[in-house]
Amino acid sequence: MASIAERLDTVHFVVDESAHIVVDGEKCRGCEAHPCLTFCPAHCFTKNERGGIDYYYVGCVECGTCLLLCHGEAVQWSYPRGGCGVHYRF
Ligand code: SF4
Ligand code: SF4
Repeated sequence: MASIAERLDTVHFVVDESAHIVVDGEKCRGCEAHPCLTFCPAHCFTKNERGGIDYYYVGCVECGTCLLLCHGEAVQWSYPRGGCGVHYRF
């Protein structure tokens, strides 16, 4: 069975200049578990050297998990504009 990384290699992205995910870093300060670091299959969330959360929307596969599981309600999420975002080949 293919790994998640191998599966992600099969998708194509058309990058929208406007981010479809916005994270309120102030709300992240009160989040101790940082589940986004583990539940995002595309690893769009990383911890920075200041202890805050950085996110990168370009590789997002639009699964919506961060919106559902961010208990701090820090994530604002919408689909990328038409024609942009992830394109699945299979
Ligand atoms: S789970 Fe939500 S509130 Fe917690 S660090 Fe991630 S984005 Fe921020
Ligand atoms: S929608 Fe899915 S792939 Fe995109 S950032 Fe959220 S958890 Fe990661």
